Amino acid sequence: MRKEYLYTPGPVAVPPDVLLKLAEPMYHHRSKRFQTIFSEVNAKLKQVYRTANDIITYTASGSGAMEAAIVNFLSPGDKVITINGGKFGERWVNLAKAYGLVQQEVKIAWGSAPDPKEIETLLAADPSIKAVYTQLVETSTGTLYDVQALGAVVAQTPAIFVVDAISGLAADDIPVDAWQVDVCVAGSQKALMIPPGLSFMSVSEKAWALAEKATLPKFYFDARKARKALAKHDTPYTPAHTLIGALNVSLDMILKETIEAVVARHARLAAAVRAGVAALQLPLYSKRPANALTAIETPGMDAEVIKKELDKDGILVAGGQDEAKGKIIRIAMMGYANDADVMNAVSSLEKVLKRVGYAFTPGAGVAAAQASLLGA
Ligand SMILES: *Cc1c(COP(=O)(O)O)cnc(C)c1O
Repeated sequence: MRKEYLYTPGPVAVPPDVLLKLAEPMYHHRSKRFQTIFSEVNAKLKQVYRTANDIITYTASGSGAMEAAIVNFLSPGDKVITINGGKFGERWVNLAKAYGLVQQEVKIAWGSAPDPKEIETLLAADPSIKAVYTQLVETSTGTLYDVQALGAVVAQTPAIFVVDAISGLAADDIPVDAWQVDVCVAGSQKALMIPPGLSFMSVSEKAWALAEKATLPKFYFDARKARKALAKHDTPYTPAHTLIGALNVSLDMILKETIEAVVARHARLAAAVRAGVAALQLPLYSKRPANALTAIETPGMDAEVIKKELDKDGILVAGGQDEAKGKIIRIAMMGYANDADVMNAVSSLEKVLKRVGYAFTPGAGVAAAQASLLGA
């Protein structure tokens, strides 16, 4: 018998009540029934984002909303800053390239976070820069960026501040309005706890003003069209309405716990994972570790082997990408995760480390993770 535990940084485990919602019979999306659900979801999404801004819902994976965050606000030849500290920062760079933008790429070492001072200097040197693109959590390295400080810097300039919070929203803190985020992108299969297929984009008044002038080509992702439909609790094209119905259930779970408590739970679980791996003498890959996931180095061992061995036991984690391939495993306690998941992941990791011949004190990781969860 195989029983699986999904600790990958998306997709994540989907709660039973959400799965049951997804098992309901099909209905038509041009209906009062859908409009009611969509208006509820939009109100709840704003509470999770902690924003008064409109939030556009796209039937697309997270990268679709990332593309929307480019094409809706810019024109060919516009200047932008892209922060690149891993696979997803690289995605901003590639999107900006694909659309012929003039970009100042701020390349930082994998595992490190951008320095807001550096961004401030770049913006001061060129007031024609239209937008700054970053991540909240760079998922390829498990690194949390200082979005609050970056937001404070960008808010002083004419540029808009665009944050990919696809893995971060509802795991790490991002009060969108308080932190002056103009455009915040999220995805459904991360801490929002539903399957892949939806992505989201909040848009501030500052960003809507740019949208009025933006001439990059767009059709499906046109946010102005989506905003018109949104006013009538509708979408321009067929939405993945069954996923939106599922989201209505998962957002209820998040708001019942409160978004602050959800973030605090993620912080607590991530701290316990870090305590566990520290006791096993495994270094963290990130200098500024996120709540959403923990990237763990496997010195002297092939991380891909560790990942495969964990898989044999039904424990699903992610490996490293590009320069981190074979060097790290990434364990996400994201969304539908609790103390037992941490204990399961850490003790399973210990078992696999024993199997591959790594030298450590058996139980050290488990004891440290448990002590952390107990607040000891
Ligand atoms: C998962 C993720 C994405 C990619 O989203 P897709 O749904 O795979 O298109 C983008 N950015 C970050 C930070 C992510 O974690």
